[in-house]
Amino acid sequence: MKTVNDINFKDKKALIRVDFNVPLNDKFQVTDTTRIQAAKPTILKVLEDGGSAILMSHLGRPKGIEEKFSLKHIVKEVTNILGVHVKFVENCVGELAEKAAAELQNGEILLLENLRFHPEEKAGDKDFAEKLSKLGDIYVNDAFGTAHRAHASTTIIAQFFPENKCFGLLLAKEVESLNAVLNNSAKPVTAVIGGAKVSSKIDVIKNIMDKVDNIIIGGGMAYTFIKVKGGKIGESLVEDDKLDVAQEILNLAKEKNTKIHLPIDVIAADAFSEDANIQIFPANDIPDGWMGLDAGPKTNVGFSFIIAASKTILWNGPIGVFEMAKFAKGTIEMGNAIADATAEGAFSLVGGGDSVAAVKQFGFADKVSYVSTGGGAMLEMLEGKTLPGIEALLN
Ligand code: AMP
Repeated sequence: MKTVNDINFKDKKALIRVDFNVPLNDKFQVTDTTRIQAAKPTILKVLEDGGSAILMSHLGRPKGIEEKFSLKHIVKEVTNILGVHVKFVENCVGELAEKAAAELQNGEILLLENLRFHPEEKAGDKDFAEKLSKLGDIYVNDAFGTAHRAHASTTIIAQFFPENKCFGLLLAKEVESLNAVLNNSAKPVTAVIGGAKVSSKIDVIKNIMDKVDNIIIGGGMAYTFIKVKGGKIGESLVEDDKLDVAQEILNLAKEKNTKIHLPIDVIAADAFSEDANIQIFPANDIPDGWMGLDAGPKTNVGFSFIIAASKTILWNGPIGVFEMAKFAKGTIEMGNAIADATAEGAFSLVGGGDSVAAVKQFGFADKVSYVSTGGGAMLEMLEGKTLPGIEALLN
């Protein structure tokens, strides 16, 4: 994997695909700067070498040019975080962009306008990619969040830099961390898969089955498994059209000697609400009118025990409805267990939108080995797919 550390950028213009798709409030202020912070080491490496950086990104899902999705809103924040004044140009291709790129001096940073103001970006248009490629000397991809998309700036563009292309430090770290979990990882390996739906995680579970020793299934998706095993789940979340898939996964696990761990007790509520009455029931005996919204105390102890004995841990998806304090305990206890195991030397990787939100909210982000920035991209890697953005850099 060739990264920016393998290249000297002196007098070179690095064209860097970053993921600055950050959340903005109604005053167009950045409410979470994680993604900008994450791109900082790559950008500064280029500047420290004596080169300049041209940053390209998308923001949101604009339909054509929509002012509210302009990257001009984030220029001040990017300047603050990088500690270097960031120039901005109101288009990412064409005369304006070419002029701004040509005038850029060593040590300077230029941010291009939202790539998705041009439909050619998502279409993976080759001419558009070629126009972008004219702006820089070396192509760097540091956008893990879009590495699973064959868009013009993430994949197609790489062919115009047959020799001069490389991984940004963030992208390299993401790939290395996921490989550390999926291949040659210290055993026992435990995957914690939670969240709402079985359907969105089926391919992940099937792919990791060969690579892990334990799969802990938490969150809403557990009830489809509990039901297919003959349990009574009351009004809990269930995907009745996925019962056969759940059974198939259970059979496969038996065949491959992978242990699947489900909740044994749950905190159930009589409504999907913070004000609901709550009661603890066995996970396979939830009365009608009650729904399981979090793991119960026995389950939390059992799950923690498995985590404590693990040397490699992957966590994707919350254990309960952690957005409501009443149902956050399972997720917090899982975070605690993973933090403790990490302190004892285990390698832990947390990824996927909601689990990342949970580790941040409960203060575990710096107590795990690695927090992945890309939800969809991470899931696709865990499903065993080759990401087009990564393949384009390797070929
Ligand atoms: P996902 O996007 O599939 O990872 O799902 C994340 C969502 O699952 C979060 O918003 C949680 O509130 C929700 N969730 C977790 N456990 C449950 C549960 N037992 N019932 C319903 N939703 C749940």
